[in-house]
Amino acid sequence: MNKKTDITEEKHSFQAEVSKLLHIVANSLYSDKEVFLRELISNSSDACDKLRYESVTKPDLISDDVKFRIEIEVDEKNKTLTVSDNGIGMNKAELTENLGTIARSGTSAFVEMTSDNENHDDVSLIGQFGVGFYATFMVSKKVEVISKKAGSNESWRWISDGLGDFTIQKSNREIRGTSVILHLKKEEKKFLDKTELKVIVKKYSDHIGVPIIIKGEKEEEVNSASALWTRQKSEVSKDQYKDFYHHVGQSFDDPWLTLHSKVEGKIEYTLLLFIPSIKPFDLFDPARKHNVKLYVKKVFVTDQMPGLVPPYLRFLKGVVDSEDLNLNISREVLQSSPLVLKIRKDIIKRIFKEIKKKSEKEPDQFLSFWKNFGAVLKEGLYEEPEMRNDIFNIAKFRTTNKCEWTTLDEYIERKKDTQNDIFYITGENEETIIKSPQLEAFISNNIEVLLLTESIDSFWTNLITDYKNLNFKSVTQSSQELNSIIEGSSKKNKIDEDKLDQDNNSLLALLKLNLKDQVKDVRISKRLVESPVCLIADEDSMDMNVEKLLQQQGRISEVSKKILEINPNHELLKSISKISKEKGGAKSLEDISFLLLDQARILEGDPPLDAQLFAKRLSRAMLSGIEIKK
Ligand code: ADP
Repeated sequence: MNKKTDITEEKHSFQAEVSKLLHIVANSLYSDKEVFLRELISNSSDACDKLRYESVTKPDLISDDVKFRIEIEVDEKNKTLTVSDNGIGMNKAELTENLGTIARSGTSAFVEMTSDNENHDDVSLIGQFGVGFYATFMVSKKVEVISKKAGSNESWRWISDGLGDFTIQKSNREIRGTSVILHLKKEEKKFLDKTELKVIVKKYSDHIGVPIIIKGEKEEEVNSASALWTRQKSEVSKDQYKDFYHHVGQSFDDPWLTLHSKVEGKIEYTLLLFIPSIKPFDLFDPARKHNVKLYVKKVFVTDQMPGLVPPYLRFLKGVVDSEDLNLNISREVLQSSPLVLKIRKDIIKRIFKEIKKKSEKEPDQFLSFWKNFGAVLKEGLYEEPEMRNDIFNIAKFRTTNKCEWTTLDEYIERKKDTQNDIFYITGENEETIIKSPQLEAFISNNIEVLLLTESIDSFWTNLITDYKNLNFKSVTQSSQELNSIIEGSSKKNKIDEDKLDQDNNSLLALLKLNLKDQVKDVRISKRLVESPVCLIADEDSMDMNVEKLLQQQGRISEVSKKILEINPNHELLKSISKISKEKGGAKSLEDISFLLLDQARILEGDPPLDAQLFAKRLSRAMLSGIEIKK
């Protein structure tokens, strides 16, 4: 290769979102700028972990230098601070992609969060979004990254002032790994002070498993450098657990739960798992990845082993370190190893035990967990039938009952004696569904109904039929059972059914005639108290809201025909019933029939069948109302 190409600079633009992010970071007024160091050390430690694993099968990669370390060096004269590691390093393509041309999913999430929030402290959360490297631009006017990938002969230099583009050129680094050189802004000179740096490293990075050294006359390891989970529980302070959680989980909240246990017996492994106290930004990312890293005998193997933790526990963060797994097999083979399956089962069991404990002993705290992660846990109801009862056991629901949140068991204790169903209604939000006409008789007869407002609720209610021998039943569905409970439990609704039917015979016949193409049936309602009409689904068709959701998602092309229920005690229906018995009633009630149906549709949040016809019919009805008054 000729010398000329060696010094050629290649210029690249930052990906648009990355540019925006850099602008926010560089202009941040956030005062705790020291967090950039935590991010760099964290990246270096990950790089060492990755190489340590690779070297198990390719020992040559590290044969020249087996002592992994992170070094921090200050150059007072040139006002630079350098963080170096002898980890895996990056080749040219990786430097280009990782540091600028490919935006990570967290990039836009971070930009969004900081732009709709005036709070500048948010910049401290940068690591959580997987874009921690860019925090260096809070304190630097220029950043250089020099890297040599382990096993490669080439090394590369990345340089940028963070203002739109960066350049890449060949470099002459001899040893493997990465150095990040920060050319500090004038006002950030304090980061040249070694005592200050030592304090920062201790504060944020004490738990890092690789030695961190501040270069100088008197060199020493600043951190404890032993993997935290290998220590005895009694030797680890609450703050150390918290710092470790921040590092391993890229989080900055206090963990809601910390579970540290050494499992001994047939298989041996250590768990250090955390449940966050706030919702991570990517909780509902379609990939549904968990955040538990797998180590084997203290060597990091992977943070992407789907089989280790089920998706419905993806809020877990932490480490599993096994003594028994084999490091010399591929991740794919490892994944299907019976040992991993055993560990998975065990994690599930232990985590549920802890959550259950909290739900019993600290109900308020439990509720905050449930509000964060209940919707995720509910995925387990159908993904892991074995755990269904355990999930139902702790699950909390809002209901028509005044009490705040309830468990299913509490619901069952309160239910009517004659009731064999657990009634529910689904919908987008509580305020709307609580006003549904289908709920009227339930509320007035004190029959409790679960208010299910999360999208996941539509799925499990569709797949799971019962709990403790009680059927889940949507109140928007026709039900014989409902009729008998309402009759059994209600005094004011106790009416002579035959007489009612007889009285309204001609009304029902007339409505059926006029609406025959639009509805499946017209019936006298037992569930209406205030409203004149409502729509319900047939007993064996889908819940109405679920059906609507599926149609919106394009998964079904049209919804099934509904049953129109009428309230025979409503003044309007009483008058109409009278007219229907007169001669020529059918014709004169055509408009009214359609208006009743459209009214029921509007109550469901659906548009009238035909907006223009609806307006015409409404005008005619209003006009005749005015004429009668005259
Ligand atoms: P994160 O570390 O959360 O993934 P960053 O923006 O800090 O996000 O880093 C982006 C990527 O750049 C890392 O995922 C890693 O692949 C690479 N990287 C950063 N620093 C180093 C380093 N010291 N050694 C090797 N790779 C690194």
